[in-house]
Amino acid sequence: MMKYISTRGNAPELSFEEVLLTGLAEDGGLYVPKEVPHYSLEEIASWRDLPYTELAHKVIYPFVEGCVESADLKKILDEVYSGFGHKAVAPLQQIDHNEYVLELFHGPTLAFKDFALQTLGRLLDYVLERRHEKVVIMGATSGDTGSAAIEGTKACRNVDIFILHPHEKVSEVQRRQMTTVKGDNIYNIAIKGNFDDAQDMVKKSFGDQSFLRGERKLVAVNSINWARIMSQIVYYFYSALNLGGPLRPMAYSVPTGNFGDIFAGYMAKKMGLPIEQLVIATNSNDVLHRLMSKNQYEVRPLLHTITPSMDIAVSSNFERLLFDLYDRDGKALADLMARMNAKQDIVSLDEEKLGKARQLFDSYACDEASTVETMKAVYEETGYLLDPHTAIGVKAARETRRNTSIPMITLGTAHPVKFEDAVKQAGFDMPELPHHLTDLMEREERLHVLPADLDVVHEFIAENTFK
Ligand SMILES: *Cc1c(COP(=O)(O)O)cnc(C)c1O
Repeated sequence: MMKYISTRGNAPELSFEEVLLTGLAEDGGLYVPKEVPHYSLEEIASWRDLPYTELAHKVIYPFVEGCVESADLKKILDEVYSGFGHKAVAPLQQIDHNEYVLELFHGPTLAFKDFALQTLGRLLDYVLERRHEKVVIMGATSGDTGSAAIEGTKACRNVDIFILHPHEKVSEVQRRQMTTVKGDNIYNIAIKGNFDDAQDMVKKSFGDQSFLRGERKLVAVNSINWARIMSQIVYYFYSALNLGGPLRPMAYSVPTGNFGDIFAGYMAKKMGLPIEQLVIATNSNDVLHRLMSKNQYEVRPLLHTITPSMDIAVSSNFERLLFDLYDRDGKALADLMARMNAKQDIVSLDEEKLGKARQLFDSYACDEASTVETMKAVYEETGYLLDPHTAIGVKAARETRRNTSIPMITLGTAHPVKFEDAVKQAGFDMPELPHHLTDLMEREERLHVLPADLDVVHEFIAENTFK
């Protein structure tokens, strides 16, 4: 059975099931697999003809073994991917010679977060059913994560979900993707405040859960949850196998916020997939690019950009990479993280550790003007409209590419229809909503507008989970 350990070395080892329900480790660290399965090139090559769902089973099963039966995992994955709007699940779109976009936006909410959250919701319900437990999911969103979490848990019998978003500060498409989902266990709370107020309330609620009634516990589905990363490893294998891997290496450019998606690529490499280059593509919230290029880690105030899903001040999952760079020394990492989180100083990594990171990762920060320029350029070159997050990935890929004979794959993290501001700035008409969402604007919405007052929110949650 796979065991999971904390990056800070001072928390109990857990099983997959416990990790799924836990979120942050007791010592403040993140859980990672104690041992990562490794496959030979021959083994990986033998997966070449597998459809997406079967490949997902191959990749995911070792991480959940002992907690989820093989046949049950198969059933869960079949259900998840049959809900995607494209038969290939993660199709490749060619945009230039040896250059591709991996379309990860064919899930129910049109962004790659569906890959993780569709699976996470079902796995959660599966283990809760067996444990005869019920939980409450609480999260704050400025858009994408909320709708993906709601879609992923709408069919769960043992989960009530409360998603807070800032009232009137989320685009209409994104709001409707949350508020029109039907389910008795779904609560959309529009907070009269900004995103930080909402996020602050969620953090405080995790700190003191006494407001919950009965035996209920809070579960986090934010991007530090290991189960999310696990599901994202699959599409690296899938895309590589479709382009002649593993017999030739691939390069990936990943629009990055919390470092979850690109960390999954790093995992794929550790598992044996030949990956030559991983590009960390950021917007002007470029804390990782500054670290990679100047060896200066400095947290700066958050900037609001036309790529809101990458607007972060701190990339939480980067700690998982640091753990490996520091040879899995929990004590060293706990010290380093204490310095990095202190926020007063500029922190530098050991040159040798940073050198290791630079062998594999390149980085590039793209401002709004270049984002829009790239959307225009790719449209002129190919007739293909990128969403702005993906455009940042493409720009970074083109700026940092090491070897043009290696296929460069940018992860297409969202459908452009979700980001009206950027599409309009680039001078395009809004694309049509995909088939399963054509009536989105007419569907009935359900949401509760509440003041930015923690007691009021707690009362609302307690009342509605105890029915
Ligand atoms: C969440 C998100 C990202 C960033 O992914 P991370 O795993 O946080 O690095 C990029 N693009 C879109 C569209 C997203 O929703």
